[in-house]
Amino acid sequence: MLIVPESKIAGLMTREAAFDAVEKVFAAMAAGDAYNFPVVREAIGHEDALYGFKGGFDRAGLTLGLKAGGYWPNNLEKRDLINHQSTVFLFDPDTGKAKAMVGGNLLTALRTAAASSVSIKHLARDDAKVLGMVGAGHQATFQLRAALEQRDFEKVIGWNYHPEMLPNIEKVANEAGLPFEAVDLPGLTEADVVISITSAFSPSVMADHISAGTHIACMGTDTKGKQEVEAALLTRATVFTDEVAQSVTIGEAQHAIGEGLIREEDVFQLGAVINGTHPGRTSADQITLFDGTGVGLQDLAVAASVVDLAVEQGIAIEVDF
Ligand code: NAD
Repeated sequence: MLIVPESKIAGLMTREAAFDAVEKVFAAMAAGDAYNFPVVREAIGHEDALYGFKGGFDRAGLTLGLKAGGYWPNNLEKRDLINHQSTVFLFDPDTGKAKAMVGGNLLTALRTAAASSVSIKHLARDDAKVLGMVGAGHQATFQLRAALEQRDFEKVIGWNYHPEMLPNIEKVANEAGLPFEAVDLPGLTEADVVISITSAFSPSVMADHISAGTHIACMGTDTKGKQEVEAALLTRATVFTDEVAQSVTIGEAQHAIGEGLIREEDVFQLGAVINGTHPGRTSADQITLFDGTGVGLQDLAVAASVVDLAVEQGIAIEVDF
C-alpha cells in the first residue's frame, strides 16, 4: 500500500491536475460510468465532532474508495490543529486490497476550487471580465486562484458578511496582478462571473444582484438548511450541478425545490455539458448557475492523481499491508 502524507500534498498537487481529475470524473458521472455511494454523516457525541464517509466508484478511471473525516470544532483552540480533518483511502477495484492512504485536507480545498473552475470553463461567457466573490474565508482564496485561470479577468470585486476578512481575497487578486474592489451586494451586478463560498444559513445574494449573462457558482451550500442565494434566482437561471440527488437535498437547489419554484428535472449535470449531451450556455444573456455540493468521487479523483504524482516523483511511502 502507498501512503501520501498530508505534508507532501502541497508540493505534489497542482491546480491543473486537480482541474483535469475533477473534469474527467464529472464527465464519467454524467455518462453513467461513475457513481457516488450514499453519504454517512454522524454527530459522534465526542468533542462535538461531525464524522462521516463519502465514497464511490469510477468504472472509467478505475477509482474505488472513500474519504473519511469531518469537522472537529475544538481542534484549533485545544490542539493547534485545523478543524476540518479528512483522509482518502483508495482500493484496488480488481481485488479489494487497500491501495493508498492519502491526506485529504488540502485536497478538499483543491477539488472544491476545481469544481467551480470547471463550471466557469464550460458555462461562463468567453468575454467575462469581472469576477465577483461572495465569501472571504479559507475556501474563498482557493476558489479565486483557480477561477482566475479560466478567463482573461480584468478585475475582482468582492463582498463578505465579515468585511474585515476581505483582505484575504484582495491579496490573491493582487498577486495575480488584478485590482480588487470591495462592493455592496447590489454592486455584484457588475460581475460576469460570481462565486459564492460562505457558510451562510440565509441568502445574501438576491435574484436582482445578478445580471443577465452572468455565471454564478454557488459552492458553500453542502448541508440541509444552508443557503447563499435567493431561491428565486434559480428560476431566472439554467441550473447545473455536480450531482442532482445532492443538489436538490443538500445543495442550493433544496430551497427552490422546497418552495416549488423549480423541479428536479430543471437541474442538469455539469458533466453532461462536458460530454456535449447538454448544450450548456446557449445565449449571451442567459444566467447559468452551478450548484457545487461536493461529491466523494471528486476526492477520489484528486487523490488518485496525487498518488500517481507521488509515485512518479519517488515520494510515495510504500508499506507491505
Ligand atoms: P470559513 O469559516 O473559512 O469561511 C466562512 C465564510 O462564510 C466567511 O467568508 C464568512 O464571512 C462567511 N459567513 C459566515 N457567516 C455568514 C453569514 N451568516 N452570511 C454570509 N456569510 C457568512 O469556511 P470555509 O472553509 O471557507 O468554507 C465555506 C463554506 O464552504 C462552508 O459552508 C463549507 O461547508 C463549504 N464547503 C463546500 C464544499 C463543496 O464541495 N461544495 C467543500 C468545502 C467546503
